[in-house]
Amino acid sequence: MGCKSVRIASTKRGGNIEKRVTSVAFRAEYIWTDGTEPVPLMRSKTRIMDGGEPPIWGFDGSSTNQATGDNSDCVLNPVFTCADPLRGGDDILVLCEVLLPETMEPHPTNHRAACAEVAAKFADHEPWFGMEQEYTFFEEGRPLGWPVEGYYFPAPQGPYYCGVGATEISGRNIVEAHTSACMEAGLSISGTNAEVMLGQWEYQIGPSGPLEVADEMWMARYLLYRIAEDFGVNASISAKPIKGDWNGAGCHTNFSTNAMRESYEPIIAACEAMGAEGKVEEHLEGYGHGYEDRLTGMHETAHFTEFRYGVSDRGASIRIPWQVAQDQKGYIEDRRPNANIDPYIVSRLITNTICSVIDPA
Ligand code: ADP
Ligand code: MN
Ligand code: MN
Ligand code: MN
Repeated sequence: MGCKSVRIASTKRGGNIEKRVTSVAFRAEYIWTDGTEPVPLMRSKTRIMDGGEPPIWGFDGSSTNQATGDNSDCVLNPVFTCADPLRGGDDILVLCEVLLPETMEPHPTNHRAACAEVAAKFADHEPWFGMEQEYTFFEEGRPLGWPVEGYYFPAPQGPYYCGVGATEISGRNIVEAHTSACMEAGLSISGTNAEVMLGQWEYQIGPSGPLEVADEMWMARYLLYRIAEDFGVNASISAKPIKGDWNGAGCHTNFSTNAMRESYEPIIAACEAMGAEGKVEEHLEGYGHGYEDRLTGMHETAHFTEFRYGVSDRGASIRIPWQVAQDQKGYIEDRRPNANIDPYIVSRLITNTICSVIDPA
């Protein structure tokens, strides 16, 4: 779990000539999420380092929907660093939270600190998350692999999920490059698969703690966007990229605590907690833009006005995997979060709702 340690050149420039020739500059790519609504964009810029840990830095928030021109500076506070698998060598990726310069408090667009607080509060439950990030490749305004002539639609859904072959698959070269990059960065990527709609894919991050899974989800998204860019392709996390009889894109969120991993009663208690008065609405609010378009009751979803859980039920809000019912312990899968969630918000909501009502083993 977590990120492998990164070797940072320690020799500072200056001093004697020997030191100067052994000093190796490297690049730190500072990465953050902006204030674009309704779905934030990722931003990044490069800092050349002579050694040491990546320091606090700043940027022009008036160009990212995070500040006004007359008071434009925002602060970048490094929170998670890993090897940069694209540049290699000593180069690193630096995920940052955005702070307000006056108070050094979290910027209202950044939800990491609130997640960290809940993660610390319930640490004795040992909460684990596995997030399934679905996404869709686009090229020249069309899902990748969709026909450019005639009716503009490929054959209906059926052969694409976990498909093999040039008729069933588009973009595997990008997916393979992204998977290798996540592994080289030391992220806890746990798998990938082609999805139900042609051009749609998934990768999973976890199981990891509430804060760790969210940090790594953002880092994995950055790598996806960045690698797809090299192929002239856009990776979209839109929740319903194509209207009609085509699956939307979700971010199924798998969750367990120590108690849930040991017995079945806490599994049921967790499902009940998620359906308690006011909780369904509170969660949907944080489950991503456009959930009404995706949670229609069709295409392997429960309607957003409904809450139900069940074993093996891919039409339920929460699925208890068959193996979990069999073993009488394990985890639950919340199928409602959209592909475009902020993972800090979702892991905070689920940790808080469930850990507030069940015992830490
Ligand atoms: P699905 O069958 O829904 O497509 P996936 O295999 O895509 O499931 O994703 C399952 C995710 O759940 C993976 O990220 C995996 O690491 C994670 N996971 C497995 N066990 C647990 C657990 N006990 N608690 C939380 N997450 C878990
Ligand atoms: Mn999956
Ligand atoms: Mn999926
Ligand atoms: Mn799933």
